[in-house]
Amino acid sequence: MNYQHHINSDFTNKKIPSVLSAEIATALSFYPELAHTPIRFQFRQRIKGSVMQAQPVIRSFFTNQREYQINISALFRLTHAAEPIHQLPAEVLIGWIGHELGHVMDYENRSVWGMVCFGLGYLLSPKYVRKAERTADTFAVNHGLGRYIIATKHYILDHTSLPDKYKRKIARLYLSPDDIVEQVRALEEGLKNSNVAGHE
Ligand SMILES: [Zn+2]
Repeated sequence: MNYQHHINSDFTNKKIPSVLSAEIATALSFYPELAHTPIRFQFRQRIKGSVMQAQPVIRSFFTNQREYQINISALFRLTHAAEPIHQLPAEVLIGWIGHELGHVMDYENRSVWGMVCFGLGYLLSPKYVRKAERTADTFAVNHGLGRYIIATKHYILDHTSLPDKYKRKIARLYLSPDDIVEQVRALEEGLKNSNVAGHE
């Protein structure tokens, strides 16, 4: 079966590496609004201090069709080893990609000027980074990806062999492990409540 072809016929304007096509297709299926948005998923040898990263394509600001790229580190680096990213559990990858697509949703709501401000805020203010990360998670949860987001957070938290540098970065710029625990708790609570209320 030509899976790559199958994926491309379902999602227009997407560039998807075949090795992650199943996980990306699953994550995209939660975001019908992005069905026609040009997004290129691409492997990078190394992303400074990150595993994945969603960015607008700057030159597309000057056209009437904004484009995005999601950079994916080819290796998930542990303290003493590195594991090819596609060998991570599928639900962890779906959660991670779903989070990046949450950033794309956030970007879609911003003007070009709004994106410039976003870029500056993200560079200069840890508070702004935390807010942006929570916004991306919130988009993902509201689109039904809650259990995948939780799987991803647990994976990061439980992975004791992540490099200290990465953990320090999470503590400094992103959410502290306590914040993540708190966030997971709130997400699980929210999921329970939304199940009670009968939402999908
Ligand atoms: Zn993020």
